[in-house]
Amino acid sequence: MTTGKINVQTENIFPIIKKFLYSDHEIFLREIVSNAVDATKKLQILSSKGEVSGELGDLTIEIKLDEKNKTLTISDKGIGMSEAEVNKFINEVAFSSAEAFLKKHKDATDSSSIIGHFGLGFYSSFMVSDRVEIQTRSHKKTTKAVHWSCDGSPEYTLETGHKKERGTDIILHINKDSKEFLEKARIQTLLEKYCKFLPVEIKFDDKVINNTAPAWTKKPTDLKDEDYQNFYKELYPFSEPPLFWIHLNVDYPFNLTGILYFPKLSNTIEVQKNKIQLYCNQVFVTDEVKEIVPEFLTLLHGVIDSPDIPLNVSRSYLQSDPNVKKINSYITKKVADKLEELFKKDRKSYEEKWEHINIFVKYGAITDDKFYDRSKKFGLYQDTEDKFYTLEEYQEAVKAEQTNKDKKLIALYSNNTVDQDSYIQSAVNRSYVVVKLDTVIDNHFINTVEQKESDLSFVRVDSETIDKLVEKDEVGASVLSEKEETTLKELFEKEIDDNMVNVELKPLNPEDQPVLITKPEFSRRMKEMAAMSGMGAMGDMPEQYNLVVNANHPFVNKILTQKKDQGTVVKHLYDLALLSQNMLKGKDLTSFIERSVSMIEGDGPKKSAGGAAKTTKAPKAAKEPKEAKEPKEEKGKKS
Ligand code: ADP
Repeated sequence: MTTGKINVQTENIFPIIKKFLYSDHEIFLREIVSNAVDATKKLQILSSKGEVSGELGDLTIEIKLDEKNKTLTISDKGIGMSEAEVNKFINEVAFSSAEAFLKKHKDATDSSSIIGHFGLGFYSSFMVSDRVEIQTRSHKKTTKAVHWSCDGSPEYTLETGHKKERGTDIILHINKDSKEFLEKARIQTLLEKYCKFLPVEIKFDDKVINNTAPAWTKKPTDLKDEDYQNFYKELYPFSEPPLFWIHLNVDYPFNLTGILYFPKLSNTIEVQKNKIQLYCNQVFVTDEVKEIVPEFLTLLHGVIDSPDIPLNVSRSYLQSDPNVKKINSYITKKVADKLEELFKKDRKSYEEKWEHINIFVKYGAITDDKFYDRSKKFGLYQDTEDKFYTLEEYQEAVKAEQTNKDKKLIALYSNNTVDQDSYIQSAVNRSYVVVKLDTVIDNHFINTVEQKESDLSFVRVDSETIDKLVEKDEVGASVLSEKEETTLKELFEKEIDDNMVNVELKPLNPEDQPVLITKPEFSRRMKEMAAMSGMGAMGDMPEQYNLVVNANHPFVNKILTQKKDQGTVVKHLYDLALLSQNMLKGKDLTSFIERSVSMIEGDGPKKSAGGAAKTTKAPKAAKEPKEAKEPKEEKGKKS
């Protein structure tokens, strides 16, 4: 037996190893099992080259727990090591690489800043062990078995071992603080997390725990739809089936394989529970891929496997790595290719999926210029009659009717087809095409499109009166005198008494509605953006809107001449305008209904029924309908 002292610069790195990566002690298992897989693969390569003769036999890697002796043993039937190799690979190479790794990262305060902690290798086993033993026998027939043992200090012992068969056993004497790794369930979970797709069979508790040939490692031509769907189930057992997928496969200028799935995304982006998993040669590394793929792609599911993503560098460095950049643009391009292909091949089925992919496409268009350009070929706009247009098709369809006096094309949209129905109907009657933009990110999306397409403006269908939505040169004339207009305006202002409402008189078409509410596009959008970006003060502000009175409407004219019940009529018109925007609520709605009932009873409008409820928050409104039935009361009140 020989004893030796591992040649270390730092006096003793074991305490550092033990403390380092505290939260991530579990990765030791991945490191040791990956070494076992590598040793097995190396043997297969040597055998295929004829450098190892004879049958290789069963190559299964076995993991055994011995709770009594408090050991965890990982055994492979790979190439094994001779004494010289243990000296070289364990005492020198492995040690110096662990030391270099620690030196490089000792300043990292946050262990997660290093992706997956690759590079720590064999010595990571000391994070969880009091002592580590190696029993190994090389595939070379002439060498003896070797036994190496080390208790976590730089001293080790090396002696002739008693292993009869080719291969290596790594025996970990689990320390007091790491008892969890003596629990079957814990090891099972770890193996499922890190080793589920390793390429050599791994047995634990007499069961093989891995799929050695996962779908992404196969050729696309060898796979059927069903295989992709089954693999998705294997990754995310409790999820709805995916919509479609992309098989990634490159070997130049970088190596990358993988399958990305498009899940059904609902309108609200929920916290992603299924994430893209990053592998390195089938070893799980992480499911935090934010730095590796563009953010919008993190909405996808699936697997990316690449040995060319530098794994033992900090996350912030990753984003500037040239390989990672190339990988990013490759994946983005592939995703765009796929969407374009689906759109061209079967537009109808693509349109059916639009509901689930539109958020993804818009998110990509907002955050990635190149993707925006690509997305113009397959990004869709759905109108209120459920017809789909690409941007180009929409522009073509509406340019005759919806070009304004400044030659700008006005894209009309609705974010709530139920609440904005009356506006949509007026627009459709004018042969305008209103598209639905009602997802959580449409606000941002609209801004992006306007920035890119300088001759296009989006206008929400309720932001202006119908004749002003697409502003043309002709200005209508009012049938009212200036004095009459002022009188009418004052009448409305008196009844409404709410400083968030701005009353305007406009000479609209006599056939348009007598009064309506508009929410100016610009200020409304500012407020929405502020609310989305969490700028509380602005976002919380009550909504300001215009009450547009149609000066040319015959009934509006009648109000001026008919002196009786003016106030009640005005109030009723205002309520109707609120109602058409789904803005009449609570007590105001109740008194509106009471008032309407008494109107259709045939007595004409009763001024006290809600006529006195001035603001939308009038506290007494609910009581008033009762009084309305008292003719005396009615007379006694002033309108
Ligand atoms: P890495 O695997 O990154 O090279 P490690 O510290 O994990 O670093 O291992 C150092 C070396 O020890 C390996 O490169 C390999 O040559 C040798 N080794 C480790 N485990 C085994 C094993 N189970 N069988 C054969 N050789 C091994």
